[in-house]
Amino acid sequence: MNFHPSEDTVQIISGLRQFIDKVVIPLEEDNADLLYNERNYYLENGRRHPQVEELRKKVRMESAKAGFYTMFGAEELGGEDLGPVTALLVQEAIGKYYSNRKLIEAIVIPSPFTNGLTPVLKGLRQELKDEYIEGIRTGEKTLCFGLTEPDAGSDVWGIKTKAVKDGNEWVINGTKQWITNSPYADYCMLFAVTNPELQQKRKGGITCFFVDTKSKGFHVDSVIPVMGEIGGDAGIISLDNLRVPEENIIGELDHGFTKAMNGINNGRLGMSGKCIGMAQWALKQAVDYANIRQTFGKKIGEYETIQNMLAESAMDIYAARNMALHCAWKIENTNTQPVKEISMVKAYCTEMMGRVFDKAMQIHGGMGLSNELGLEAGYRLARILRVPDGTSEIHRRTIARSLLKGDLNFS
Ligand SMILES: Cc1cc2nc3c(=O)[nH]c(=O)nc-3n(C[C@H](O)[C@H](O)[C@H](O)COP(=O)(O)OP(=O)(O)OC[C@H]3O[C@@H](n4cnc5c(N)ncnc54)[C@H](O)[C@@H]3O)c2cc1C
Repeated sequence: MNFHPSEDTVQIISGLRQFIDKVVIPLEEDNADLLYNERNYYLENGRRHPQVEELRKKVRMESAKAGFYTMFGAEELGGEDLGPVTALLVQEAIGKYYSNRKLIEAIVIPSPFTNGLTPVLKGLRQELKDEYIEGIRTGEKTLCFGLTEPDAGSDVWGIKTKAVKDGNEWVINGTKQWITNSPYADYCMLFAVTNPELQQKRKGGITCFFVDTKSKGFHVDSVIPVMGEIGGDAGIISLDNLRVPEENIIGELDHGFTKAMNGINNGRLGMSGKCIGMAQWALKQAVDYANIRQTFGKKIGEYETIQNMLAESAMDIYAARNMALHCAWKIENTNTQPVKEISMVKAYCTEMMGRVFDKAMQIHGGMGLSNELGLEAGYRLARILRVPDGTSEIHRRTIARSLLKGDLNFS
């Protein structure tokens, strides 16, 4: 097993850094007042300011032109399908750039399965691929993934949104909640019950539809602000007699749920890579500060309590990084989806990031709490990431179930 990145991966990361330095950071700096003042960033209704959306689009499209935005998309959709090890290392590299950078975050590379060239779109009919994929590939258009509802989060089989066939169309009614990017998306991969009996048996009955968010009957009612923000990314959607043509079914009728899971593991690994990178960024801030901040006539880095916090963070990052790399290596080289390992990685990396940011803030004393350094924003993000893509508890449940079924393999 060799975790040393390949020459190609090293070059991709170096190219990406240049892209961020030359294209993204100048754009951030030129628009600092818009991007770093929440009162300008969000409108009264919690949506991002249209100018912010324009900047995000510009970065997405430039990133697509440079070949980054589509690197991990399926080849049949026009992506490059670079494997999970490279994906993890690239996400780590982006995370290391973190200093609460608004434009780098999430849009240089799209969320691996809820946006961009997600593998879910492989299930689109050819005519729809011909019509829509190009816009998605170039970053001009974006997507959202509409599965969760007010009464169904972890237990996705419990969704209540119904689709009823009427001629050659499906009529959809229901409510979706927590749907990332829904206030801004052009299209939605929308999940609805098409066969309640199959759904009750948890054997199917849920279908995935490709929906234009401008369609009559598709409304984003509100944005959900989270953790101290005055606006947000996730929305609540109501579906009110939304009519969707039969040909817009993604994949097979009644088996949309398998599509929901298609790619979710990439999402979990990608998120873990970002956590590993961001934790390294936070540790670097803490080390730098410990080397300069003086109290009682000494650098704080000379105190054992501070050293312990630094050392514990380093141990945490090293464990998380190697665990994630091993898991990505396993997927890439054995062509399997190691469910237990992916759950361990997602839960561990998101929790690790919270611990590392917490210690980095503590080492900075009062400065760590100020919103100037980006540490508290990273801490809030780490706290958020313990919920989407499977909560920490659900991942522990998955791990324990595998163990109890006899999977005690760690190699
Ligand atoms: C920022 C953010 C972005 C999101 N983006 C999307 C998106 O784009 N698309 C989408 O469809 N969804 C999205 N979600 C929804 C997300 O997937 C759900 O919030 C998540 O699955 C948890 O569901 P819930 O919030 O309903 O909590 P619940 O499922 O109600 O869980 C409540 C608590 O009970 C625990 N729990 C539940 N069941 C068990 C069990 N069997 N054993 C032990 N503990 C259990 C949970 O861990 C949690 O602590 C997003 C959520 C957030 C916060």
